[in-house]
Amino acid sequence: MTRRVGLIGKPLRRRHSQVMHDAAFDALGIDARYVLLELEPDEVAPAVAEARRDGGAWLGLGVTAPYKLVVAGLCDAIDDDAAMIGAVNNVERTSDGRLVGFNTDSPGFRAGVELAMGRPLAGTRVVVAGAGGAAHAVVFACLAAGAASVTVANRTVDKAEVLLARFDGVGDGARTSVELGSIPFEAALREADVAVNATTVGMVDPGATIPVELLPDDATVFDLVYVPAETPLVAAARERGLRAANGSEMLIAQAEAAFERWTGVGGMAGVMRDAVAPLLADATVRA
Ligand code: NAP
Repeated sequence: MTRRVGLIGKPLRRRHSQVMHDAAFDALGIDARYVLLELEPDEVAPAVAEARRDGGAWLGLGVTAPYKLVVAGLCDAIDDDAAMIGAVNNVERTSDGRLVGFNTDSPGFRAGVELAMGRPLAGTRVVVAGAGGAAHAVVFACLAAGAASVTVANRTVDKAEVLLARFDGVGDGARTSVELGSIPFEAALREADVAVNATTVGMVDPGATIPVELLPDDATVFDLVYVPAETPLVAAARERGLRAANGSEMLIAQAEAAFERWTGVGGMAGVMRDAVAPLLADATVRA
């Protein structure tokens, strides 16, 4: 029986996850496929029930917009980290048929940003633009890893405040919410070790959220956006001579972590990176 992992969402425009997971299954000789389940709202609960079914083929599920909350509510348990972050992006079907939600954006971000910085997050001063789902995973990762300070800057500043309140007990780094583009935001950038774009700007809207000229010379810029491959923010940071990376290594690291949970096999980042490289480099792939 061919085992399956299904990605639940609508619309499902990108094939990056499918390409990475199928390459890893093939490299290991595991008879399994990563299938895209573009579902209507009333089809989600039956699909999750099918994934739970005894004797079924399912290893687990991936979940993307707009069904992250719905699927989290259908799980039997949710990892503590994912519950704290408030987002489940993958589900494991355990051998006894339970569905356990987990979040791989947070460890994926940590792996990606530490690679880009060339140092651990512990002790760093971080500025994060954005307060949406991805920013929650980013801020949790920074605080849990022992960042010295985290400044969350959002267009809608209330959302940054709510985000930070969620992580009251996590880590002991200083934390501040500011409005994107404000004077306190600019002051935080002047002292930052790393500035992170966790908004959709650069992908959906043109331009960049972070004025890179304000950053110290040894700062790193990390853009979660990976379509297009060179975002306006990454281009500006490189032009200014800063270390800069887009979100492709985060994408690969979060897939590697999910694959390990479903199969018990880690260390598949290299295979996944090779498989997804043509898609990441393809300028015709759209956001
Ligand atoms: P989301 O929940 O919809 O949040 C969007 C964020 O962008 C909010 O903070 C929003 O601010 C802000 N924003 C949108 N348009 C803006 C504008 N014109 N000016 C300033 N801020 C604006 O999205 P998400 O799920 O967090 O995703 C954010 C990005 O991360 C996406 O590009 C996604 O592809 C990327 N991502 C990458 C990875 C990876 O593995 N590399 C993983 C997850 C997500 P308001 O609150 O003011 O509306």
